[in-house]
Amino acid sequence: MRAAETGRIGTNAPHVARLLAVSKTRAADEVAALVACGQRAFGENYVQEALAKQPALQHLHLEWHLIGHLQSNKAREAACAFDWVQTVDRAKLVPLLARHRPPERAPLNLLVQVNIDDEASKSGCRPDEIAALANTIVAQPRLCLRGLMAIPAPDPDMARRRDAFRAMKALFDDLAARHPGIDTLSMGMSEDYELAIAEGATLVRIGTALFGPRNGR
Ligand SMILES: *Cc1c(COP(=O)(O)O)cnc(C)c1O
Repeated sequence: MRAAETGRIGTNAPHVARLLAVSKTRAADEVAALVACGQRAFGENYVQEALAKQPALQHLHLEWHLIGHLQSNKAREAACAFDWVQTVDRAKLVPLLARHRPPERAPLNLLVQVNIDDEASKSGCRPDEIAALANTIVAQPRLCLRGLMAIPAPDPDMARRRDAFRAMKALFDDLAARHPGIDTLSMGMSEDYELAIAEGATLVRIGTALFGPRNGR
């Protein structure tokens, strides 16, 4: 993981990508071991799993990202347990997250999740829905629009994955033209983060390459 730690891969990636350590299925002491190496940002797929893990780590003041699908009946807990929600893919979630963000906390950082190429996946909005969803978010003072997130289909053909990353970068640039404050394009996982960074990712989500293989999900 040296490359993702330093954030610079290849010569055509003039930006620095942040590393999000994906800690799903990992115990709190495994998270703490990475914190000891300097890692501060962690991603979880399930609200309940994050809530179970966080008390043991509370004194470390980590940055928590929700990267799994968010059900609306979990929006209240998500707005309290996380600093970022990367999986906003429908307007219904927006007022719920805003209403339940505790007033003493900083605004909740949000990414719009885009279904860029995976017709089988029910998560992520269509590209033509991004603009309206972004406008709904920026109208809420308790929320902060930070950019876009995608989980491209795990296509064995890396050229097709590259196409998906490239399409995401174009959507991100489009959105940035209307919302100059956005700064985050979350894409790339253990298998393809180098490609994602080369195509413009500013945040890569890495589990296996940091912690080793998972059992199951
Ligand atoms: C599990 C997961 C990751 C990390 O995947 P690895 O292949 O283990 O690096 C990244 N993003 C999302 C949304 C995930 O669910």
